[in-house]
Amino acid sequence: MPAGSAPPRYAVFGHPVSHSLSPTIHRLFGKQCGIALAYEAIDAAPEAFAQTVRAFLASAHGANVTLPHKGTAFALADQRSAAASRAGSANVLTRLPDGRLAAHNTDGSGLVRDLRARQRCDLSGRRVLLLGAGGAARAIAWDLLEAGIDQLTIVNRTADTAAALAGALGQTRARARYWQDLDALGSFDLIVHATAAGVLGQALPLPPGLVDDRTVAYDLSYGAAAQAFLAWARDAGARASDGLGMLVEQAADAFALWHGRRPQTDPVYAHLREGR
Ligand code: NAP
Repeated sequence: MPAGSAPPRYAVFGHPVSHSLSPTIHRLFGKQCGIALAYEAIDAAPEAFAQTVRAFLASAHGANVTLPHKGTAFALADQRSAAASRAGSANVLTRLPDGRLAAHNTDGSGLVRDLRARQRCDLSGRRVLLLGAGGAARAIAWDLLEAGIDQLTIVNRTADTAAALAGALGQTRARARYWQDLDALGSFDLIVHATAAGVLGQALPLPPGLVDDRTVAYDLSYGAAAQAFLAWARDAGARASDGLGMLVEQAADAFALWHGRRPQTDPVYAHLREGR
């Protein structure tokens, strides 16, 4: 960057967004890589998001997108990566050199990397239960299948949405089941909690029989939102983790898209973990 010129700008858009760790993560990545950047959090109400993010990206380089804007971010882009297209949502927007916007989704790659590298969870041949069928579940389902799991069972409060996701995946390895039948499904090697119940402070009744002595339980959320699921999982005997590692890994994938270099994630993960 020439001396005296302003650093390239980035932001995370959400509603609310003040809780977001993305500004801290990207600033730490930039410092680690010696890349100057400015990164802020921008709260945009749903009706204002498209206009606000377009105006921002007219001069800025990229944006992360979180709830509730991921679907709109996908829809407004001119180009879409395969990961964004199959999820129907985007958590990364990049301004291309010709001014058009490219959408990408790094949630699935972030989850799989955290599971494999940090949680030491071998995914190959595993029986996986996916709780939830919202935007995040849609983003991670393909990546879990590509990572070599044997079977993906999707259970969602609204059964039709789970069936639609299983149908979209179009594989015999993916199936939808009813929430009220959870008791009869037996145990799983990996349980991924991808509902918003924790964020909303709502109870999520789950039978302990889903867990056996090999089960890894993973909550996509972190902080207070993950506590109820993690407590249930540990009480049932599972090795349990929240989604802080996924957050850092999906951010590193976004950083690599923007800066052409993937930062080391362990120091940033450790920094955030100390503060949690
Ligand atoms: P979303 O699109 O709004 O989907 C919400 C999902 O939660 C739906 O399946 C919904 O079921 C279900 N749900 C909501 N309240 C429920 C309740 N009381 N009981 C059971 N199910 C309930 O949200 P999302 O984008 O998928 O996000 C889900 C979670 O993942 C959030 O906690 C988010 O913070 C987290 N996340 C974390 C990361 C990370 O990097 N760590 C990345 C992405 C998302 P219905 O279909 O029945 O409404």
